[in-house]
Amino acid sequence: MKVVVIGSGYVGLVSGTCFSEMGNKVTCVDIDENKIEKLKNGIIPIYEPGLEPMILKNVKAGNLFFTTNLGEAIKDAEVVFIAVGTPMGDDGSADLQYVLAVAKSIGETMQKRVVVVDKSTVPVGTADKVKATIQGVLDERGSSLEFDVVSNPEFLKEGAAISDFMKPDRVVIGADSDYAFDKMKQLYHPFFMSHDCLIAMDIRSAEMTKYAANAMLATKISFMNEIANICEKVGADANKVRVGIGSDSRIGYSFIYPGAGYGGSCFPKDVKALKKIAEEYGYKAKLISSVEDVNDAQKLVIAQKVVKRFGEDLTGKIFGIWGLAFKPGTDDMRESPAIYVINELVKRGAKIQAFDPKAIEEAKECYLKDVENLTYCNSKYEVLQNADALILLTEWKEFRSPDFEEIKAQLNTPIIFDGRNQYNIFKLEDKGFEYFQIGKE
Ligand code: NAD
Repeated sequence: MKVVVIGSGYVGLVSGTCFSEMGNKVTCVDIDENKIEKLKNGIIPIYEPGLEPMILKNVKAGNLFFTTNLGEAIKDAEVVFIAVGTPMGDDGSADLQYVLAVAKSIGETMQKRVVVVDKSTVPVGTADKVKATIQGVLDERGSSLEFDVVSNPEFLKEGAAISDFMKPDRVVIGADSDYAFDKMKQLYHPFFMSHDCLIAMDIRSAEMTKYAANAMLATKISFMNEIANICEKVGADANKVRVGIGSDSRIGYSFIYPGAGYGGSCFPKDVKALKKIAEEYGYKAKLISSVEDVNDAQKLVIAQKVVKRFGEDLTGKIFGIWGLAFKPGTDDMRESPAIYVINELVKRGAKIQAFDPKAIEEAKECYLKDVENLTYCNSKYEVLQNADALILLTEWKEFRSPDFEEIKAQLNTPIIFDGRNQYNIFKLEDKGFEYFQIGKE
């Protein structure tokens, strides 16, 4: 099948590459010339495990192309994905300007019937707006070309995006024509090895499914963080409570790890957007609002523990930070708790020495660009030199079982703040550390 994917970010690039892996002819389009130039030269602009070899292989095989020219790409396309960003607008709702700009460009350039697929996370009713935008442009062109608009939200996880896409739990398709359903079934069929996991529904339900899924996951995280905060007050251990409740199959172990709060490009903005969608329809989403409030506070819990230990004024103190990305396996720093913790500590006069296996460039160029008193180190042990404490913020594998003797030797004082509860089984107090974690005093 001839496929065009518009927007070559985490979602577009992964989706396009995986479709090409299944033998489709895929063209990934982006307005960012620099990004497309890099891709054409075999330089992959994002870090995602397994992505680079798959791109290089499919480019070589003549299945995967990159361009800034939508008009060329769309000529003989059968399915056109919209995979551009839907960032948080000023009022918290999803900003649809990129999606609608793409819809307009599709209307201007399409030359035959296409199935237009919303893969971006978009509020309920967006497919109608995309449809109206394309139709408006076609009318201006005096064209009677047919098209379909489909909702196909993406559920991949950064850090495991390729395997999630290649072996999906489910593929949600919202459409209102048999033609569109058939095209989508044909496109996704190769991804269903053992059983067909395509879930067909109406467009609005598909759009809502994505928000409901992310809100549910964010709710589990905030719920556990709230339990952890209560555990600290009452003298319980959230790590034990986690195992105690997770063993109930109705609850399950996933997404109930106490920590420094959720971040990333999706949960924060999607939770906010869902709250806004409800508001627009006259409903106050109380639970969703609380999920957000708990998380906003949770991102600062580690900084508060540092202040409690070292005092309000951190002038002259140096902290070594392990982890900047919002989670392991990615260079993505959008809404990462590290941004909040580092800014809070620096504001109080501290100096920061940070290391992350993949996200340092992102931090330097964008998310921590203007932060003073922040230096980046080349290795995890380098950040500890002359530091007054180590703070773990992202649970990269290489931080999970470190050499505690080495840590102790490098630090000024043997103190660890563990924002991901990775070290509680190592009996750090017995090793001479002061150890602070989430959900246990
Ligand atoms: P991203 O910011 O990494 O990529 C978006 C890309 O779109 C950028 O490269 C940008 O240059 C390009 N773009 C913007 N306007 C364009 C235009 N007019 N024409 C062509 N290209 C254009 O975003 P992302 O993380 O891939 O997210 C895309 C969408 O998918 C969002 O709605 C997001 O919520 C959703 N989503 C993201 C994830 C994730 O883990 N990142 C998972 C599921 C769903």
